[in-house]
Amino acid sequence: MSVTAFLTDSTLCIGCKACEVACKEWNGIADDGLHWNGFSYDNTGAVGASTWRHVKFVEQPPVPGLGGNAGEQTSWTFSSDVCKHCEEAGCLEACPTGSIVRTEFGGVFIQPDVCNGCGYCVTACPFGVVERNQEDGRAFKCTFCYDRQKADLVPACAKVCPTESIKFGEIEDLRKKAEKRLEELHRKGIDDATIYDPRDTSVGGTHAMFIVRGDPRSYNLPPAPEVPTAYLKRAWTSSAIAGALLLGGTLLAFLSDSKSK
Ligand code: SF4
Ligand code: SF4
Repeated sequence: MSVTAFLTDSTLCIGCKACEVACKEWNGIADDGLHWNGFSYDNTGAVGASTWRHVKFVEQPPVPGLGGNAGEQTSWTFSSDVCKHCEEAGCLEACPTGSIVRTEFGGVFIQPDVCNGCGYCVTACPFGVVERNQEDGRAFKCTFCYDRQKADLVPACAKVCPTESIKFGEIEDLRKKAEKRLEELHRKGIDDATIYDPRDTSVGGTHAMFIVRGDPRSYNLPPAPEVPTAYLKRAWTSSAIAGALLLGGTLLAFLSDSKSK
């Protein structure tokens, strides 16, 4: 059984949303109403209870001189966002019912029949991925196609992507592929390309890595995501140190008092 991951290369994404649709089809999720959201040409807007893969349209001001009527153009890049399947997963740590579990492939899975809809996982996710649905309040997010992986199948999104922007495979293998791709992009003069794989943060790495251009925040990827329990650990350590100092001080005062008598 291998530990697997996604590597989403946004430099290859054409914004076709086939991955979004394939995810919905495989998992039996209804469409989101297909309404314009008023802010973007992207109608789904964000990952949520009914959008487990979301193709973000990174729309930026017009780039002068980019063919046609440059004054009316928007510069677009696209990236298919998803649950990061964190090594230190805030959602899993916060869940009081044991509904959220780690699978043998390294993914983070919500068991819908155990979820009681308390919503603790929603606030504990540093990426804003989990959402409760409107009918019964239970939390939903990408399952990492656990059922497909169990059957030796590639996740639906990676299977349909026509440009191979979404790669799926063994995690260390994908890390090597990401490094090679980055070298290639830099050789081609795309100097602002970077790998998003936050291993040196409290999240401790993710099973969904990305290749992006420029600031990862443009793609909803925080440079230093923090698991809420990291604060808790720091608070407990500070309290323990303060307690030890207080105890030491009291002991010293007691000893010097008994000596002086
Ligand atoms: S991205 Fe959020 S929902 Fe996904 S595993 Fe990490 S904490 Fe959980
Ligand atoms: S299927 Fe591939 S190319 Fe199409 S939107 Fe998704 S990631 Fe981009």
